[in-house]
Amino acid sequence: MDVITIGESMAVFSPESSPLMRYAATYSRKFGGAESNVAIGLTRLGHEVGWISKVGNDELGKGLLSFIRGEGIDVSQVKVDEIAQTGLYFKEVRNASNVKVEYYRKGSAPSQLQVTDLDEQYIAQAKYIHITGITPALSESCYETVMKMIQIAKDNDIKVVFDPNLRKKLWSEERAREVLLEIASKSDIVLPGISEGEFMFGERDIESLGQKFLEHGASLVVMKVGEKGAYYFTKEQSELVPGFHVDQVVDPVGAGDGFAAGVISGLLDHLPMYQAVERGNAVGAMAVQIPGDFEGLPSRTEIHQFLSSTELEDI
Ligand code: ATP
Repeated sequence: MDVITIGESMAVFSPESSPLMRYAATYSRKFGGAESNVAIGLTRLGHEVGWISKVGNDELGKGLLSFIRGEGIDVSQVKVDEIAQTGLYFKEVRNASNVKVEYYRKGSAPSQLQVTDLDEQYIAQAKYIHITGITPALSESCYETVMKMIQIAKDNDIKVVFDPNLRKKLWSEERAREVLLEIASKSDIVLPGISEGEFMFGERDIESLGQKFLEHGASLVVMKVGEKGAYYFTKEQSELVPGFHVDQVVDPVGAGDGFAAGVISGLLDHLPMYQAVERGNAVGAMAVQIPGDFEGLPSRTEIHQFLSSTELEDI
């Protein structure tokens, strides 16, 4: 197993008969969640991935599970909760810079995850665990479960990758800041956006934010700057890896998850840092050109084609 992640996935409803939720009478239904998006991205790039979660004993839970299994992700650690339901959310894309999300996930099946749901032997097989700041926001037991998973990773010399994925709708700012800082301090690799860095450390300067994350415990920080690409920081060096030009951004949601998948994939392939971040930029750029949170995530062949076609354009 290359990567194991933990988190909630939900049914996602998008308005069809009107772009606005308040007028739409018909909706299309897909499935999505940050951690399973990363898992899908990694699996498409040829890596072996496990997803730890819970679903309700309901039709959406059954559909969700078979969808994620169908993407080739190991779902052997996904449990079915007999009482709590699978969560859902509605996503309205007015245009690429105006996306609205409304959740119906309070008390959902994944928010019932507990420390006893973790199988240490299963997690110990991974090279990396992937954690987001969404899972600990779901409930106190989810917070404890995430912290236990990090402890298991540390005990077994597994690298912890952390994407803060700040979701202010899910918890108080005070608690969010406290927990995101706590997880960052225990992580090897942190993948923040500038706004998340500012939320956690109270400043926006990219260079000093990178240093703050390093001083806080990470050995690698990769800071996303949207279409401009991403900066990486290690104790030895820091560098901007420019993003790829995209003619039209159709749906920005999922770029960060694709980016995480690309960077982790590059690390798994032992690429030099610059190229690992470049792979993250490429997956992010491909993700924003297709509607949906995971649809644009490329296969290994597609990413190689994308990278070689952009090299040709540069000549
Ligand atoms: P999300 O909305 O998924 O949470 P995020 O805020 O975590 O995203 P972004 O900085 O928006 O992350 O995007 C992640 C990466 O995807 C960027 O660092 C960049 O490489 C790529 N990317 C995002 N938007 C664009 C774009 N418009 N053009 C080219 N590349 C992009």
